[in-house]
Amino acid sequence: MKNDCLFCAIAAGEIPSNKVYEDDLCYAFYDIAPQAPTHFLVIPKDHIGSVAEIGAGNSAVVAHIFEVIANVTKELGLESYRVVSNIGEQAGQSVRHLHFHVLSGRDMTWPPG
Ligand code: AMP
Repeated sequence: MKNDCLFCAIAAGEIPSNKVYEDDLCYAFYDIAPQAPTHFLVIPKDHIGSVAEIGAGNSAVVAHIFEVIANVTKELGLESYRVVSNIGEQAGQSVRHLHFHVLSGRDMTWPPG
């Protein structure tokens, strides 16, 4: 757990969140400022700063998170959705703990803004 990391604190239950799913490796919770009718985030419990910090030593959790996304979206009845991860300031990353946005329930544009 990284000091002063909001999502580490959420994963540890120190800051309340609206849980979607949890297991030993990852935690999923609804975004506080939803950008679609369904918008939740999936994070690794161990701190990883962003996609840019994924490597041989920690990449297994990413495969696990995508498996969780496939399962949880099915359970929620979501047939079409978008998975997004912002890396760095210019791309819009505001929380420096790896997270995958799962957005669903409205028409989406491409390319994203
Ligand atoms: P990003 O801007 O890609 O780093 O995504 C961070 C996301 O975290 C944003 O969509 C925020 O709305 C969301 N967020 C920030 N604080 C909280 C919180 N306490 N609980 C749930 N979602 C949050």
